[in-house]
Amino acid sequence: MAHKEMICIACPMGCCLDVEYDNSIISVKNNSCKVGIKYANDEIYDPRRMVTTTVKTNLAIAFLPVKTSKAISKNLVRNVIKELNDITVSSPVQIGSVIKKNICGTDADIIAARNIS
Ligand code: SF4
Repeated sequence: MAHKEMICIACPMGCCLDVEYDNSIISVKNNSCKVGIKYANDEIYDPRRMVTTTVKTNLAIAFLPVKTSKAISKNLVRNVIKELNDITVSSPVQIGSVIKKNICGTDADIIAARNIS
């Protein structure tokens, strides 16, 4: 059995979780709601992160800030960054526009984080 302390970042409360686990979660303590149990499970067996980065453009501003539409498996972050290195935005976009759908088969889209013209 293993033991880990982690801060749940699913909401601003930031509960300090005390987790015991083996092949599955054995117990989660100090969580103020059930989301903390899911957070602990994901963090131990399939940690996920939002990705924020930039893509190249051939417009007046050289780089467009972008982000994933949802958190993706931490193992795939490097692949996502690599695929984005090959993308160049060539026409004006508005904040929220989809730059790339289903990036690396993650089911997450790459979204523009600002207007650019
Ligand atoms: S356990 Fe619940 S209340 Fe605590 S930080 Fe996570 S989501 Fe928020």
